[in-house]
Amino acid sequence: MGHTASALERTGGLRGRTVRNTDQDTFSEPINARGGATYSKLRLAHSNEDCAVGTDVLCQTTIATPVNMHGIGLHKGTMVHLVLKPAKANSGIVFRRTDLSTTDRAVTDIPARYDSVTDATMCTTIGNAAGTKVATIEHLMAAVSALEIDNLLIEVDAEEVPVMDGSSDAFIALLDQVGQKTLEAPRRFIRVLEPISVEDGLRKGTLNPCDDGLRIELSIDFDNLVIGKQDLALDISAESFRRELSSSRTFGFLKDVEMLRSLGLAKGATLENAVVLDGDEVMNEDGLRSPDEFVRHKTLDAVGDLSLAGAPILGCYQASRAGHAFNNQVLHALFANPDAWEYTTRRHQGGSPVENTRLAVSAD
Ligand SMILES: [Zn+2]
Repeated sequence: MGHTASALERTGGLRGRTVRNTDQDTFSEPINARGGATYSKLRLAHSNEDCAVGTDVLCQTTIATPVNMHGIGLHKGTMVHLVLKPAKANSGIVFRRTDLSTTDRAVTDIPARYDSVTDATMCTTIGNAAGTKVATIEHLMAAVSALEIDNLLIEVDAEEVPVMDGSSDAFIALLDQVGQKTLEAPRRFIRVLEPISVEDGLRKGTLNPCDDGLRIELSIDFDNLVIGKQDLALDISAESFRRELSSSRTFGFLKDVEMLRSLGLAKGATLENAVVLDGDEVMNEDGLRSPDEFVRHKTLDAVGDLSLAGAPILGCYQASRAGHAFNNQVLHALFANPDAWEYTTRRHQGGSPVENTRLAVSAD
């Protein structure tokens, strides 16, 4: 399937999460179970296509300048300082803890990738081999990926990203403050080649080939009069994300919030950062932002979760009753099957991407 083997030079220290080739680029790659080793790593072969001003190959991006914000963390309830910094091409999205007593990057840094996820029960938490963690990354990741930002260093001085109002709005506003910078490297896309289906009890989902971009079709079904059955199908773009998803808030039930608080969790959870339901009643004074805010938020979550593939996905994700853990299972299933996906670049003509070019991938 177009995977050609070539020698790779490994670098130590990061437990094989990073593959460095002998030229210059460092990639964080999806771990791929090809080749019979415990794990093997893939890297992008050098593309023949240049990404420079004046060509029509879609280029990678980062933000133009650093930008920062403060906000309360959902679980600890303490103030968190978040700084977003530009990053070089092919470095991906990396979280860095700045409150630790070391600057050893193997300890402080966590790549925002599906195989860094350590817990996805309440929110999405990523961690590294040193045991460093960052929780509640999903609404920030959804904003970053929806705005098509490929490379970013995200510094946090706590174990969680600020929850803000429980939606992606504050992060979109933050990213809009600084704008973007185009980098001279082609943007890689992950093109789904074969359907990947996952079933986990009542949760079901399939990632299907679809060359035009990322499309998400979700349905939820809650035994609750306010939520009930809701579904939404949306082609994900910066524009559709801003219009349809960004402002939808996370939601929870009062009984669960009380239970979490008794365990010392959700200390920062208030009606300011979540829709809270008491039985069949919305407790927030201003009510919902849209009658289907719940499925919109689940779709926002899926955008963030799927961004942990490490590159934008060209595929259609159809799922019912999916949550963070399920979305992560789907990515694991995708990357467990090397024939089910490939890297591509895309060209744009007249403003819209029209052509995918398969990139050879080397595996060790
Ligand atoms: Zn969420």
